[in-house]
Amino acid sequence: MAILTILEVPDPRLRRISEPVAEVTDEIRALIADMFETMYDAPGIGLAAAQVDVPIRLLVMDLGDGPEDAEGNPGKNPRVFINPEILDPSEDFSVYNEGCLSVPGQYADVERPAVVRARWLDENGVAHDEVLDSLTATCLQHEMDHLDGILFIDHLSRLKRDMVLKKLEKARREKAGKKAA
Ligand code: ZN
Repeated sequence: MAILTILEVPDPRLRRISEPVAEVTDEIRALIADMFETMYDAPGIGLAAAQVDVPIRLLVMDLGDGPEDAEGNPGKNPRVFINPEILDPSEDFSVYNEGCLSVPGQYADVERPAVVRARWLDENGVAHDEVLDSLTATCLQHEMDHLDGILFIDHLSRLKRDMVLKKLEKARREKAGKKAA
């Protein structure tokens, strides 16, 4: 396993449209393992293959909502979505303060359909068709946007988006300044 480099804005590779996965092979499963390791290390709750410079329709997610361990810590709940599709998005929306590993340290409220029916393949090539809600629905929609070259900041007003990008630039400059000192 390996920790992969996560692309960050304004890298144009984040804007590519990802290709469907033709077959779930051992090579894909090895990439999935690396993506989980990268996501847990970051740490984040979702990661699309496009963010690690592999433009295929694959994403991983772990909302930490698995069964608790013996000490009562929240359990891991790793989930894999290959070639995901959204059907029947609800007309009611929910707002979540989203962040993104490709827009590090920046957060903003984004409104998305609250409930979605989704279809996808898992890491064994098994087809799923489920109704998803709350953070699972939000996270899936955020990660699926990456497969189409869309970032959460694209859902904001131009003013808000420019503010987020300015704050990110400032944080980067401060970090670089510290390294030089
Ligand atoms: Zn993201």
